[in-house]
Amino acid sequence: MATEEIRRQVVIIGSGPAGLTAAIYSARANLTPLLIDAPVDTEKQTTPGGQLMITTDVENYPGFAKGIEGPELMMEFRKQAERFGTEFLEEWITKVDLQERPFTLYTENKIIRTETLIIASGASAKWLGVPGEAKTPVGFGGNGVSACATCDGPLPAFRNKRLVVVGGGDTAMEEATFLTRYASKVYVVHRREKLRASKIMQEKAFRNEKIEFVWNADVQEILGTAEHGVTGVRLRNGSDGEHFTLECEGVFIAIGHKPNTDLFKGQIDMDPVGYLLTNGHSTATNIPGVFACGDVQDSVYRQAITAAGTGCMSAIDAERFLDHLPVEMPSGEEVTIEGEHITVDRKLIIEPTGEVISNEPAPD
Ligand SMILES: Cc1cc2nc3c(=O)[nH]c(=O)nc-3n(C[C@H](O)[C@H](O)[C@H](O)COP(=O)(O)OP(=O)(O)OC[C@H]3O[C@@H](n4cnc5c(N)ncnc54)[C@H](O)[C@@H]3O)c2cc1C
Repeated sequence: MATEEIRRQVVIIGSGPAGLTAAIYSARANLTPLLIDAPVDTEKQTTPGGQLMITTDVENYPGFAKGIEGPELMMEFRKQAERFGTEFLEEWITKVDLQERPFTLYTENKIIRTETLIIASGASAKWLGVPGEAKTPVGFGGNGVSACATCDGPLPAFRNKRLVVVGGGDTAMEEATFLTRYASKVYVVHRREKLRASKIMQEKAFRNEKIEFVWNADVQEILGTAEHGVTGVRLRNGSDGEHFTLECEGVFIAIGHKPNTDLFKGQIDMDPVGYLLTNGHSTATNIPGVFACGDVQDSVYRQAITAAGTGCMSAIDAERFLDHLPVEMPSGEEVTIEGEHITVDRKLIIEPTGEVISNEPAPD
């Protein structure tokens, strides 16, 4: 099949809240962004619209007093991005070359060249892969099983209920502690006899009277019925191999997230887990002209509103860069599209030729 070549000023990868917000802003700035997202793929569990497509009630996105369903919210985002001229392409990006501008992205039969790239490819919660965990109607995902306590813990389905949190790291301790605000009891099920969590997080969880630890236990299956949702978890004791059932009404899987950044390994700076590194003042990565927003660069907040907020920042950063204005890099230096570097103290400009000139305003 012939390879089609596309050229753009702004390309965005990912159509979750971060990518679509970046699209709304870039489209309104007349940059006609191209937004690329993976097609529906049941095996890889991808759907254009991102993670909120697999949830029902979103109660914490501002502007919706009565709450809104995740897919409906993402449809509104998408319509708003379309209204201002965003173009959409549903394909997997399989390779990127960010060595020089224009950057080159590859899909199965397209080559896309772009002056700026906004990465909003998100992160995926890690799952156990046990029976009963998949999304309804196959399992109880969305009907008692969740991977986000901040998102789902306050929902009526989990209030005054017995909940299980699976995991032994900081995230599991944080989720368990948070859930005690609503639950009648929180069991932390961990497959070892010791936690991986930091000391302070462990101590907070140990002190919490609503939390009980179930040690050395592997989740084998999440049990329930279509009518009542989750009714328990079947566990296997690591020491004697015995199986037993722990009754509960909700299960929160807290075994970590994997940022979708394999494509960028060796090209963009990342932390040890794979989150793209940006700094607090902009969404620039270490490559001038490449910006990252949403869960792909946020291991802390991971919410739709923070993803949308950084999506807005990325679009404004890309716009500034294309307007020949300096953009702050993770190092604290500023760079321009011409390749000028402005030192962290803002006093000097280093030209691409290596020539150093003053950035101080001329005296009156
Ligand atoms: C079950 C669940 C419930 C949640 N509930 C809430 C809630 O109530 N409130 C809240 O604020 N947050 C909630 N969250 C968190 C929220 O969904 C995320 O914080 C948010 O979606 C992150 O947005 P994002 O745009 O960064 O990435 P994502 O939404 O993850 O979107 C990234 C997109 O990039 C695509 N992509 C990745 N790699 C490629 C590639 N190589 N080529 C093409 N496309 C690619 C993916 O397919 C995906 O569509 C929930 C999350 C989950 C899992």
